[in-house]
Amino acid sequence: MVACMSNGSNTERKVSFGFQEVTESEKVARVKGVFRSVASRYDLMNDLMSAGVHRLWKHDAMNQINPQPGEKHLDVAGGTGELARAFLQLADKAGKRRGVDTPATAIVCDINDAMLEAGKARGDNDKWAGRLDWVCADGQKLPYPDRTFDAVTVSFGIRNFADRVAGLKEFRRVLKPGGRLGVLEFSHMTAPALQQAYDTYSFNVIPRLGSLVAGDQESYQYLVESIRQFPDQQTFRQEIENAGFSRVSVTNYSGGIAALHFGWAV
Ligand code: SAM
Repeated sequence: MVACMSNGSNTERKVSFGFQEVTESEKVARVKGVFRSVASRYDLMNDLMSAGVHRLWKHDAMNQINPQPGEKHLDVAGGTGELARAFLQLADKAGKRRGVDTPATAIVCDINDAMLEAGKARGDNDKWAGRLDWVCADGQKLPYPDRTFDAVTVSFGIRNFADRVAGLKEFRRVLKPGGRLGVLEFSHMTAPALQQAYDTYSFNVIPRLGSLVAGDQESYQYLVESIRQFPDQQTFRQEIENAGFSRVSVTNYSGGIAALHFGWAV
């Protein structure tokens, strides 16, 4: 079992949990409940909901992160560890091209031990033994010194944070100067003509699929509601810049269904 660290916060600021307003501590508890409930079917549901397209978004995101041999990577809200494994794989490829064999290392950090356990149970971790670590901690209060990592990534995680800005400041703190941040998240459609079809699919199909496959309709209702509550590309970009990142770029995927925000720590 992975033991979880708590940030001991008792703030009562109100934040959104899907379309509901809840206290920060209630959001943390409910988000934990969501991912505890779906952990064992999480990877399968992602493939079904997006017809596998989430893998293309992640692939492009990791290519932009451009992992290199010897680098230290932190995947916050890393769940089952897909991005961390991709980081190690791409760093090894880059090492081969450059003739450098210093291994990169990666940490999957998540607040939910059930998600980490589901990731650790996968069969393809052996080849990363000694280079891939699993840590249960809150992304808003990372248990690492300043300037530790070359790259920090977060995919489909920050939408679930009780305090997104606190998270962004933590990512900035633990990155080395010149380090890269990649935040992949559901975003806002850039093609208005597709909005209606996307909404119909989101609200009518996804919760039912969640019920059928993961036995949990509510968690997938939360998913589609939380996507609507998340800021648009430009607002989120500004938040990242305010947290101390420079040259923040946005890449929209599938007409803005998802977007990668990429920035540099200065
Ligand atoms: N990054 C993985 C991926 O792309 O498949 C998992 C994404 S999953 C939708 C969201 C993850 O965020 C869950 O594993 C959840 O436990 C985690 N999470 C939510 N709030 C968090 C927080 N404050 N700190 C760390 N992880 C958090």
